[in-house]
Amino acid sequence: ILIFLTTEPARVRVSVRVRPRNDEDLADADSYDCIELQPEVKRLKLRKNNWSSESYQFDEVFTESASQKRVYEVVAKPVVESVLNGFNGTVMAYGQTGTGKTHTVGRLGKEDPSECGIMVRAMKDILATSGSFNVEISYLQLYLESVQDLLLPEKNNIHIAEDSKTGEVSLPGAAVIKVRDLDHFLQLLQIGEANRHAANTKLNTESSRSHAILMVYLQKTYQGKAENEKSSLTKHNKNDVPARNGAPMLIKSKLLIVDLAGSERIDKSGSEGHMLEEAKFINLSLTSLGKCINALAENSPHIPTRDSKLTRLLRDSFGGSARTSLIITIGPSARNRAETASTIMFGQRAMKI
Ligand code: ADP
Ligand code: MG
Repeated sequence: ILIFLTTEPARVRVSVRVRPRNDEDLADADSYDCIELQPEVKRLKLRKNNWSSESYQFDEVFTESASQKRVYEVVAKPVVESVLNGFNGTVMAYGQTGTGKTHTVGRLGKEDPSECGIMVRAMKDILATSGSFNVEISYLQLYLESVQDLLLPEKNNIHIAEDSKTGEVSLPGAAVIKVRDLDHFLQLLQIGEANRHAANTKLNTESSRSHAILMVYLQKTYQGKAENEKSSLTKHNKNDVPARNGAPMLIKSKLLIVDLAGSERIDKSGSEGHMLEEAKFINLSLTSLGKCINALAENSPHIPTRDSKLTRLLRDSFGGSARTSLIITIGPSARNRAETASTIMFGQRAMKI
């Protein structure tokens, strides 16, 4: 039985995760923990100084001892389930470099599978449910407003297309690879990581300066075979192809998992040339993401998704009937209080959506 769900725009789920203190935090005698979590009421306290602190509400707060499994179940699983039901969805990690975005989202868990992150767990759930699903992925890096293919590294500057009728976003030039099983997916992620490393070495930059975007395309046919199955596999231009009396019906949806570039403010005054370009563009895409979040939070009829490639890519997976979950990652130490505070404010604005 097929149930048509009418959805109201779901609000963005916003979680915060604090990473354990690292060696630098421990070595810094002047620093102390400026974060206090109250998981039972899902609040976070940011200490301003010895006398005062501010308290913030989130949908979930994860202490340094939260497991990868629990983070996945709270942050990403509801989105994955919604995508399995035919809706688009996005999971994003936002935070300063070194606070655990890649650990949370991209970790493969080769040495210890219990430590794998959201990408791997999402794929595991999708493949486990998916007897009749067709599962394909693209894996991209967005650097200086240029989309690069991490699975086909000779392709860079991939065009972002948008269907003028449905608003569906697609990347006609990107490799779309059918995932056979979890091992195959792990291989693809590893290839992507290696390509990302090689590309960034060549470009003389670091992975923290670019966004990594995994796109998972799901497709399911109800009632027998789709007449044009072959060609529809590579087109992702409609979520649902409605059934014409007894005709096969195609359900399509898309999951985006995004490991955002480091949110730390790059000092433009001290940078020149290449570094200045980087600073401008990273600020552009994250600023424009912030503007879209603000517009959504204010229920504005106009969401300014055209300002950057990042928001153009997210356009049909964010807002509307799509489900979005944002995890912000922070360190505990007062050394980074300014960046931590700015990350928390980003999350607080998304809480209003
Ligand atoms: P980012 O991607 O935000 O720059 P990383 O995910 O690379 O940060 O994390 C930086 C370091 O901190 C890594 O060595 C990572 O393994 C470690 N780390 C981050 N978050 C956690 C966590 N929750 N538990 C244990 N180690 C973590
Ligand atoms: Mg990272």
